[in-house]
Amino acid sequence: MITVEQAEQLIQGQVKDFGTESIPFESALGQVLAEDITADRDLPPFNRVTMDGIAVSYESIASGITAYRIKATQAAGDQPIDIDNSDECIEIMTGASLPDSVDTVIRYEDIEIKDKKATILISGIQKGQNLHFKGADKKKNEVVAPKGQRITPAIISIAASVGKTELLVKRLPRVVIVSSGDELVDVDEQPSPIQIRKSNSYTIKAVLRQHGLTAELLHIPDDPIITREKIAYCLERFDVILLTGGISMGKFDYIPKALEDMQVKTIFHKVQQRPGKPFWFGRHNNDILVFAFPGNPVATFMCLHRYFLPWLNASQGLKESRSVYAILDQDFNFKPALKYFLQVKLYFSEQGQILAKPIEGNGSGDFTNLADTDAFIELPMEKDEFKKGEVFRIWNF
Ligand code: AMP
Ligand code: MG
Repeated sequence: MITVEQAEQLIQGQVKDFGTESIPFESALGQVLAEDITADRDLPPFNRVTMDGIAVSYESIASGITAYRIKATQAAGDQPIDIDNSDECIEIMTGASLPDSVDTVIRYEDIEIKDKKATILISGIQKGQNLHFKGADKKKNEVVAPKGQRITPAIISIAASVGKTELLVKRLPRVVIVSSGDELVDVDEQPSPIQIRKSNSYTIKAVLRQHGLTAELLHIPDDPIITREKIAYCLERFDVILLTGGISMGKFDYIPKALEDMQVKTIFHKVQQRPGKPFWFGRHNNDILVFAFPGNPVATFMCLHRYFLPWLNASQGLKESRSVYAILDQDFNFKPALKYFLQVKLYFSEQGQILAKPIEGNGSGDFTNLADTDAFIELPMEKDEFKKGEVFRIWNF
């Protein structure tokens, strides 16, 4: 049986570039940007007023003028209105384009307006105050968002502001999620007392959704012939097959054999870990990858975060994100010679450290416990006793 690190390496050895495609910017959330977004013009595009108030020429202030005749009012979106004399001002609003004849804005809070005259109530006015100058943030053609990063709401905002209605993104693999087992029914069906709902499919779907990936769902009963047929179907249509269940030692766990029959070569089967020991990983000659997770919902969830998402991120060209660690906040024992992925609730100490509180629930199969926890903490195989204050890697979910 291989170790978690060996499994990780073998999976990372199968990282694959799926190319790029252009999509509407609004649907790009969660995907990876494959082009630099550049400014289509200076940002801001004009000398932008940042406070409601009056615009004057600084020279007039320096020469001692404190009261100004209001020549006109200029709203955001209005053409700039110039003053004709230095004792005039323009009442001007946030977002307006500063007229050339003025260079300083004084807030309403700092003036008094009476009979169409504005009197300045403060001293210490700075030339150019309350203005955001043309090109101060970025010049035309400068990169505003470099490629190779995940598209967040901030990137959507930037794309919108420079008029990028289409974004070049890394193409996502076509993924199918396949559940297996005769005891499983659809979520909207009423299970009999001996049946359960196929929740794993939706767990996986939801996790993928967070990464901009939509996947098709499929189910196979515990039948070797149908299993082969459905695998053949998937091999024709998808880049990645994510299976849950049917890979253990059970009499009806037909999947590893069916995969081999369909020319999907085993890269590994079984990893020294809990949960998720029966995890199976393989590859078809035509490059299709198969991640077959154990049906135990916590095992599926863990394997998805520990193995599939890092593979997906690497395949999308994302730089490896830094590992995250947390401090165990109480002693914990685990005897078996397996790496243990313990569910923990994270919190911060007053010193700004991340602490991890083990919440075991009913052990590694208790998936309701996932709602009470935030992460798996990865406890090394070589030890049985883990002490309060020791630091281990975590996998946040
Ligand atoms: P298996 O890996 O097929 O032996 O399944 C292990 C356990 O996980 C069994 O109790 C199954 O009923 C359960 N299980 C398998 N697939 C799913 C699924 N898609 N959703 C929820 N539970 C599942
Ligand atoms: Mg099963």
